[in-house]
Amino acid sequence: MLTKETYQRYSRQLLVDPFNDLAQQQLIHSSVLIVGAGGLGCAAAQYLVGSGVGHLLLMDHDKVDISNLHRQPLYVESDVGSYKAESAARRLLQINSTGRISALTYQADEAVLETFIPLVDIVLDCTDNLPTRFIINSLSYKHKKPLFIGAATGSLAQFVALNPAQNHGCYACLYAPEQDTGNSCLSQGILGPVVALAGNYQALASLYYLSGSNQLDWGRLHVFDGSKMQWKQFAIPKRSECAVCGDK
Ligand SMILES: [Zn+2]
Repeated sequence: MLTKETYQRYSRQLLVDPFNDLAQQQLIHSSVLIVGAGGLGCAAAQYLVGSGVGHLLLMDHDKVDISNLHRQPLYVESDVGSYKAESAARRLLQINSTGRISALTYQADEAVLETFIPLVDIVLDCTDNLPTRFIINSLSYKHKKPLFIGAATGSLAQFVALNPAQNHGCYACLYAPEQDTGNSCLSQGILGPVVALAGNYQALASLYYLSGSNQLDWGRLHVFDGSKMQWKQFAIPKRSECAVCGDK
């Protein structure tokens, strides 16, 4: 049974199927690793914490820059120069002080991710570089953790939900390391609402999964073109020769 205070806090989402009392308790007892506290991580984190996810582990070794503020709404001008993970954790606790936030100021390398991914229920890839994405993909698959990936450059956003328990391809089936074009917010620019859309998709899919929904759109690439306001979806078939999820 939820307490009166808990019921009051989450009363609006408890009206939406399948977010009943049991689902809310599952959210409260869940743990989520967010790798990257930029535009994607800010959008996803605020809604996961607001919705009652019990333990959020937020990993980013970067510090807040003035050029981040147009798309990373957890930070304000006085945060410039501070660690993003720590500033975000302070802000998130102001949204919801009932949960636990771990601010991890580590660089997300293989050893660090190998330590933290086994500890959580799900992983959100909110990073901005392909090498780290491949490591997160590989370790999430190895440890059988559902992985919710967001990406955005320019006016384009992407979202993928991967579940090792399902028979679809992984991120390494979708992209090869040699496809790294070096595109980034620095070279391509980025629009705040576009990156927030991808982060919101990550948060929404995570909430449904953690609440016990079995109707998620696993293993498909969702691409949003902000200049046309259009979403498109593509299946991600498993490649039998994939080094992560293939047969060999
Ligand atoms: Zn694969």
